[in-house]
Amino acid sequence: MNIILLGPPGAGKGTQAHRLVEARGMVQLSTGDMLRAARSSGTEMGKRVADIMDRGELVTDEIVIGLIEEQLDGDAGAHGIIFDGFPRTLAQADALGELLSAKGKTLDAVVEMRVDDTALVKRVIGRFTCGNCGEVYHDETKPTAKDDICDKCGNSEFKRRADDNEESMRTRLMTYYRETSPLIGYYYAHKRLRSIDGLGEIEAVASRVEGALAE
Ligand code: ADP
Ligand code: ADP
Ligand code: ZN
Repeated sequence: MNIILLGPPGAGKGTQAHRLVEARGMVQLSTGDMLRAARSSGTEMGKRVADIMDRGELVTDEIVIGLIEEQLDGDAGAHGIIFDGFPRTLAQADALGELLSAKGKTLDAVVEMRVDDTALVKRVIGRFTCGNCGEVYHDETKPTAKDDICDKCGNSEFKRRADDNEESMRTRLMTYYRETSPLIGYYYAHKRLRSIDGLGEIEAVASRVEGALAE
């Protein structure tokens, strides 16, 4: 089953995607992670997108569609693909539909994760990730079990994103409401939309995601 996790920055898409990867062997395709990887390896494209990402604006449709297309090339995703942070515009949604049908794949569900703005801001401000395995943590809601040691891999270096500050977050939220939220109506019309409450314990949200996928 191939799905989209749709929601504003901080909704918990990455956190739930990691759980689905572990539980179901699905493959997570996060354009945000791919763009950050391009930046840290210093590619031309990485340099071009750096300022745009730090400001919280969207990089061009062409770049992210190209990244997704490359990933769909092999036969990865036998147990399903999770699109995380893609598509973010109507043009990207159309392109994804075309890419999937060209590869003989289907889009089975779009899970919209609803979280109010105040909670979103708190979530991104407290977010940090393991520098080795990418496990997602939060200062208050999901600290590491032992101080400064990753629960998953035992590493002790963590990263905070340059765009996880209040100013960039304001731009990212505006961008979400302007460019991405129309996808809710788009996928409703395509009969793919399943909306869940993204507030509450991570485990509780995970059960709602499972419920939405079983519908
Ligand atoms: P979040 O986890 O906060 O939702 P992401 O990690 O998905 O954010 O994305 C970080 C940044 O990367 C975005 O603010 C944007 O600049 C860029 N980006 C990621 N995915 C896309 C996309 N599909 N289209 C355009 N820009 C994107
Ligand atoms: P997204 O990928 O949608 O931007 P993340 O999965 O990175 O969101 O989550 C954003 C932050 O919120 C992280 O610090 C994460 O640990 C935390 N978080 C995720 N889900 C929940 C939840 N259900 N309750 C509280 N905090 C959460
Ligand atoms: Zn780790």
